[in-house]
Amino acid sequence: MRITCVGGGPAGLYFAVLAKLADPAHEVTVLERNPAGVTYGWGVVFWDDLLDDLFRHDPVSARRIWDAAYKWDEYEVRATGKAVSYLAGYGFSLGRHRLLDILGARAAELGVDLRYRSEATDDPDADLVVACDGAGSRVREHDAAHFGAEVVHGRNRYIWLGTPHVFRTFTFGFEKTEAGWIWFHAYPFTDEASTFIVECTPETWAGLGFDELDGRDGCDRLARIFADHLDGEPLIDQRAESGGTGWMSFRRITNRRWDHGNVVLTGDAAHTTHFAIGSGTKLAMQDAMTLADAINADAGGDLGAALERYEHTRKAALAPLQAAAKASSEWFERMNDYGDLPAKQFSYALSNRRGAYPLWRYVLHVSTQRGAGRAMLRRALALRRWSRARRRPGFGAPVEGPQHRHDPAHIGG
Ligand SMILES: Cc1cc2nc3c(=O)[nH]c(=O)nc-3n(C[C@H](O)[C@H](O)[C@H](O)COP(=O)(O)OP(=O)(O)OC[C@H]3O[C@@H](n4cnc5c(N)ncnc54)[C@H](O)[C@@H]3O)c2cc1C
Repeated sequence: MRITCVGGGPAGLYFAVLAKLADPAHEVTVLERNPAGVTYGWGVVFWDDLLDDLFRHDPVSARRIWDAAYKWDEYEVRATGKAVSYLAGYGFSLGRHRLLDILGARAAELGVDLRYRSEATDDPDADLVVACDGAGSRVREHDAAHFGAEVVHGRNRYIWLGTPHVFRTFTFGFEKTEAGWIWFHAYPFTDEASTFIVECTPETWAGLGFDELDGRDGCDRLARIFADHLDGEPLIDQRAESGGTGWMSFRRITNRRWDHGNVVLTGDAAHTTHFAIGSGTKLAMQDAMTLADAINADAGGDLGAALERYEHTRKAALAPLQAAAKASSEWFERMNDYGDLPAKQFSYALSNRRGAYPLWRYVLHVSTQRGAGRAMLRRALALRRWSRARRRPGFGAPVEGPQHRHDPAHIGG
């Protein structure tokens, strides 16, 4: 089959890898408008569930992702006037740039034709066109009436920044200013840098003057607001430095249909999920897995039926996460209602922003804030991370190809 993936983000590159693994005779091309190695954004977070799926589908790239990932081992919550508090949980983060390097190298090894600096035409010539061209998908817009995209803008403003300050672990930081609360979601993704996403209501955003500050001045102002957290390091706005706009409101995109003839939507082109639950990359890669599985199961058969099955499976799988993401983003829109809670209640409200936890979670939260309770919980979770990792197929295989920079000794904190 001749397959063209429009877009070389996580969805496009990972689908290309899986299509080639399923059948090396497939002719797979990825068209990416940017030059190789150029992308937007900083690090992304993910959890064990994605790693389980990655190891099941391609242990080789999964092992490289595991090795390159930064492993953090709890959430820290800081807020003006409150003691620091902690939320149990561990996770992984990886620079978007690094993730695309790993996937691009794996695709090239398998014989995928990667064409950088290639803007797709409206109608690529292929048996299957996989639209993985992101939230602003040109392929989707070309047939907008059929796909029926709906775009809802979130109320809050956010900006996706980076910093050379390496946070110890995933950190939420809330600062009370004269114009209201403003906060960051930050996490290390290498030994040299952290992602730093700033968010606030539109009233606070305008009240602090961000409607009139350009990139560099805006970053300097934010660095002053968050000076207590940055150890004198700057904040960097990649988009402003390349002439784009930094501050945005989140676009929640859904589509009535995901396929049309030989064209199918994946990743952000099909759906977006608010960054407050850090799942867009995971969902894009899981789309790629389900699509590859569906096509593989129907090899030589009815492509239309395979695309339908992919769409139905993914829509059902996405529904609970999209509901969680919506609840989570709405919690941040109501942040001012929670700002005066005492530290432990505040951080618990933050962790329970989907509103789904039983009472024992609160008891566990309060009893593991300090000393032995916190240390024991972190150790138990570190153990769980490792035992789950070791059970994955191919985890113990020797690593070949692009090497990682992060020291695995860090694992478990
Ligand atoms: C602030 C923020 C933080 C986030 N944090 C996380 C996180 O922590 N964890 C997580 O899992 N997700 C996170 N996400 C979401 C994640 O970035 C996206 O969901 C994910 O990148 C979607 O992958 P994709 O491959 O569908 O699209 P994209 O990554 O957007 O890739 C699309 C590609 O298509 C290319 N392209 C577009 N049009 C064309 C064309 N016409 N021709 C050729 N090429 C084209 C683009 O250049 C791009 O490379 C975050 C998003 C935001 C905004």
